Amino acid sequence: MSALQDSGKAKGIKLAFDTEQCILNYMPAPASILKDTFGYDAFRPLQREVIENVLAGRDTLAIMPTGGGKSLCYQIPALLLDGLTVVVSPLIALMKDQVEQLRANGVPAVVLNSSLSPSDYQKNMDSVRDGSAKLLYVAPETLLTGRIFSLLSQTKLALLTIDEAHCISEWGHDFRPEYRQLVDVRQRYPDATCLALTATATPRVRADIKSSLKFSQSNEFVASFDRENLYVEVAPKRDGMGQIARFLEKRKEQSGIVYCFSRRQVDELAAYLELQGFSVRPYHAGLETAVRKANQEAFIRDDVQIIVATIAFGMGINKPNVRFVVHYDLPKSIEGYYQEIGRAGRDGLPAHCLLLYSYSDVAKLRYFINQKEGDERRVASRHLDAIVRYAEDETNCRRKPLLAYFGETYAAENCGNCDNCTADPAELTDITIPAQKFLSCVKRTGERFGAGHVTAVLRGSKNERVLRLGHDKLSTYGIGEELTQKQWMHLSRQLVQMGYLHQDGEYRTLSLTPKAIGALKDRAPIMGRLEAAETRPGKARARRIELDYDRALFAILRKKRKALADKAGVPPYVIFSDRTLVEMSAYFPQSSASLLKMSGVGQVKLRQYGEAFLGAIKAYCEEKGLQEKYKESRRGKSDANRRYMLVGEAYNAGESIQSLRERYQVKTGTILDHLARFVAAGNPLRNSDDLQSQTSLSPQQQKAAMQAFEELGTIYLRPVFEKLNGEISYDDLKIIRLIVLSRQE
Ligand code: ADP
Ligand code: ZN
Repeated sequence: MSALQDSGKAKGIKLAFDTEQCILNYMPAPASILKDTFGYDAFRPLQREVIENVLAGRDTLAIMPTGGGKSLCYQIPALLLDGLTVVVSPLIALMKDQVEQLRANGVPAVVLNSSLSPSDYQKNMDSVRDGSAKLLYVAPETLLTGRIFSLLSQTKLALLTIDEAHCISEWGHDFRPEYRQLVDVRQRYPDATCLALTATATPRVRADIKSSLKFSQSNEFVASFDRENLYVEVAPKRDGMGQIARFLEKRKEQSGIVYCFSRRQVDELAAYLELQGFSVRPYHAGLETAVRKANQEAFIRDDVQIIVATIAFGMGINKPNVRFVVHYDLPKSIEGYYQEIGRAGRDGLPAHCLLLYSYSDVAKLRYFINQKEGDERRVASRHLDAIVRYAEDETNCRRKPLLAYFGETYAAENCGNCDNCTADPAELTDITIPAQKFLSCVKRTGERFGAGHVTAVLRGSKNERVLRLGHDKLSTYGIGEELTQKQWMHLSRQLVQMGYLHQDGEYRTLSLTPKAIGALKDRAPIMGRLEAAETRPGKARARRIELDYDRALFAILRKKRKALADKAGVPPYVIFSDRTLVEMSAYFPQSSASLLKMSGVGQVKLRQYGEAFLGAIKAYCEEKGLQEKYKESRRGKSDANRRYMLVGEAYNAGESIQSLRERYQVKTGTILDHLARFVAAGNPLRNSDDLQSQTSLSPQQQKAAMQAFEELGTIYLRPVFEKLNGEISYDDLKIIRLIVLSRQE
């Protein structure tokens, strides 16, 4: 492997890391590690590409959204490469969490930072030095110390991973000067491959990362930022607190975050929700560190379900089962908003993102922005305009503007998973007449006023401003009493959205666009909505078909998980994710083999927790008279080349060679070939007695064949066949080879 890398590097040629190559060399392929160690069936988009690129020894920049699965991009290579993988991350809390999760899967990882006791520090240093640790997590400032440099000079550094790589760029929102010095670290270890990872990178930051680290163009991987499991919704804010309470009422068993604009707001809302009987804690920078930490920990460990927080909360939170993120106030920018909702549904299960929007929140933010000056004010104002446009859009798919921010064009017309795409089209009505009234009134008042004043004129208000300006004399004065103030405001937002009105960013004054002038002239019909409903029940149908699972069993398994987690002193998701429990509650696995098919169950977790969970599932099924359901492995569908995995898994699950032959309509030899590839890919074969019974060879013949394989190797059959004078058939040789291979385990 390292020869492969070196030659690739030296000659600068493209050397794809070949799964076949792995198998020939009997090295476990990335896909096997994915399943056996991490328990997952399929790679997420670009994971495989990034891993293969890294294994081929090429420096790589990978940009993936939060929850996209960046960690596996270095964790799998770390297990395959000869040498140490160093992971640089600025978030100490997150490192600890990652190390815990890795260890739960049996991956030897350690962290070095100042929070360790001297003896733990020493222990971790030793395990890096003697090569027993494959992964080392460090903060950049730690990495830059002489102590670590000298440690690394005593080991072979194979892969230098720079997490949160946007911190290297002064253009990023989170520049850290220590990150700049990582450039020198790279130069110290020219043979190490470098992998830079980030979830936030505008094109400028991206270019900056690559040029700082001296990467070449071809090694950039940008995943789609679309998080399809997130249901995105904007609703008008009416009685904010009541709305939140009703939203939470329907999500009693779920974890989630409610973001507020100010600390005071956080305290108020948290207190209110607590009074309503919700399991909730506040989080903001004004709380004492110890309190803040305790609240965060309680949330992570599922002791508390809801965190009400300012945006100070979330960085360094790895909790995969956040089922909702609510914005009680308007976020300051689309970028911030997307990052915040990105904390929902990291486990890939459906999650709900709700933003409560009111115009008074916009006014509040604008007030703060107006305290600023110059560039800062202009930038902040532009960001606010964009999020307001986003929030007021009631027709287009929400994903379009969100993804456009990352330079991505969302191609589908209808995502099926946002409020606008799932809204009932029947709700659209003919609004031609009120629209014309409104547009004419904008025209008559001189295109110098905002929606509030235009509405006042339409509704025949006698307020001071209307009278002073003489607008009570206009022909449009008082022609709109049939609609409420709120309905007119709503209509005006739609007209802006539909391109009939232009709204000035700062003063919010309205003017007619050519489209409006045309519409007034032609009396063209205009379709829209009158009065937005507060919630749109029944329409929020997620596109993804959620697994239909047994809620009662899920609750039992959750309790089991919590008890095991508390005993081990780790967050529950270190044991198993919600996704894993959902699958268990849907398929009712009854054996180790079936349990292994559940997403997130690898070999080590099977050994450690398999019995506990199987016990609970079996007891439940017995009581309710339920049967196990067969889970089709997803890998087979996506990749026909992986039939050997299907065959191997089925064999391990107890299916006989005879039955596999019939199922796949192939010869015995082909099934044996599949099994050999399966074993060669690093999978253990759990049933070698059955193999023995497949051959008609005498014990002496078996022994002779085994000796021949041991002598001549297991790759080619022909030399063995010849050595045994052609007396043993190829099929029999294949069986013996399998026995030899599975014993080498
Ligand atoms: P990121 O660092 O990009 O935000 P993580 O690496 O923390 O994302 O991954 C998010 C979650 O998704 C984790 O719980 C992780 O175990 C899970 N995950 C990653 N890759 C896969 C995969 N291929 N299949 C299933 N789950 C995955
Ligand atoms: Zn949509």
